[in-house]
Amino acid sequence: MTQRINGGGSSTSSGGRGGRTTTCSFCGKTQRDAGPMVEGPRNVYICKSCVELCQNIIRQEIRKTSTARTLVGGTPAPKQIKAFLDQYVVGQERAKLALSVAVHNHYKRLAHRDAGSDDVELDKSNVLMVGPTGSGKTLIARTLSRILNVPFAIADATTLTEAGYVGEDVENVLLRLLQAAEYDLELAQRGIIYIDEIDKIGRTTQNVSITRDVSGEGVQQALLKMLEGTISNVPPQGGRKHPEQQYIQMDTTNILFICGGTFTGIVEIIRRRVGKASIGFANEGDTQTRTQEDAELLDRITPDDLIHYGMIPEFVGRLPIVATLNPLDESAMIRILTEPKNALVRQYQKFFEFEGCMLEFTRSALRRIAEKAMERDTGARALRAVMEEFMIPAMYELVDHAKSGKWVVGEGVVNGTQKLFNPRAKRARESA
Ligand code: ADP
Repeated sequence: MTQRINGGGSSTSSGGRGGRTTTCSFCGKTQRDAGPMVEGPRNVYICKSCVELCQNIIRQEIRKTSTARTLVGGTPAPKQIKAFLDQYVVGQERAKLALSVAVHNHYKRLAHRDAGSDDVELDKSNVLMVGPTGSGKTLIARTLSRILNVPFAIADATTLTEAGYVGEDVENVLLRLLQAAEYDLELAQRGIIYIDEIDKIGRTTQNVSITRDVSGEGVQQALLKMLEGTISNVPPQGGRKHPEQQYIQMDTTNILFICGGTFTGIVEIIRRRVGKASIGFANEGDTQTRTQEDAELLDRITPDDLIHYGMIPEFVGRLPIVATLNPLDESAMIRILTEPKNALVRQYQKFFEFEGCMLEFTRSALRRIAEKAMERDTGARALRAVMEEFMIPAMYELVDHAKSGKWVVGEGVVNGTQKLFNPRAKRARESA
């Protein structure tokens, strides 16, 4: 069966004319092999797979021009990038500022190259983010890729190994970016890759694995090539490389690499270098002063400190921009719960709204959630788990309480000593 397109709409005809076998004019397959076809004027036929292929080609072309537009004509200004980051990332002002500039310059540099200018050679500005777990490193990188409308991939440096060891080949990181770009090579080659836990592949890492490259140096070397810009052979199916495999050649020159790590203990290295006396003595018991002092020290990080920590000098040299992030305190945690566009409190409130109810959190409840999250020592990451402890049971019951007015999460609910849907609590509130 073929469907005909002949300028005046379409009609159906049954197979080839005069008993002739219908073949796809594009791939040459017969109707028996390729299934239904669309017939065009002058005996032209196209099969389903060729239609799909054409659609992909057209989609890629459209994307290519729109990417060129976003990146060349419309690279957002650092202030615009920062304003976008502000909607999602609480605090971390210096890191947001540094990244806004770095990312803007990166894409400006691509535009400069695309325009064929070669008067000044602009260096690639890969970035290193140093800060505690759950302080927003991944969030910043991910949010950046959203404003720039480029594909984004995350990799964990600890799972990467040098070829020949047990673990993931470094090239699989590129594959992930290619997948994020729906196999549009052009687009992937301008994407952003975030490599987490980069500090864990330092030379001094206490690595007990005997199957992995124990020094971590091999991985640094392999990553180094990607960071510098190279043509990598990416296995399209993922997994380990083997000689008979077909590879996709991917140029990493224009990919922006953002690395992140906690670098636990680096403050001590900086403290030793700077000399404790120059920054003043913190009272041992005064944790706030101590945290403040640590943050100030971290700001003074130099490439030498990173080398001292165990990163190879060439690697550090390829990450010219270092942005530091602070640990989040209680007030930052509360802001994270309530302020970002996708803040957890706002999301739960929306779900209550869907059922015609209202949801409120008391100030002390928010403080208690922040406190409980901080006990877990995983930064803002713990907020979700703490909230889910009491919100999931509540969400389970929510539909039974549709259009039942306003419900308030107090400290008791957070502590698990009170249920959210507690009619007595509600009455007491209403009479208050
Ligand atoms: P890491 O620094 O370990 O990469 P993430 O960026 O993955 O931390 O943070 C984990 C989660 O915690 C994020 O998905 C986000 O919900 C929340 N979060 C962390 N830091 C911030 C922040 N500064 N502002 C808003 N949310 C944050």
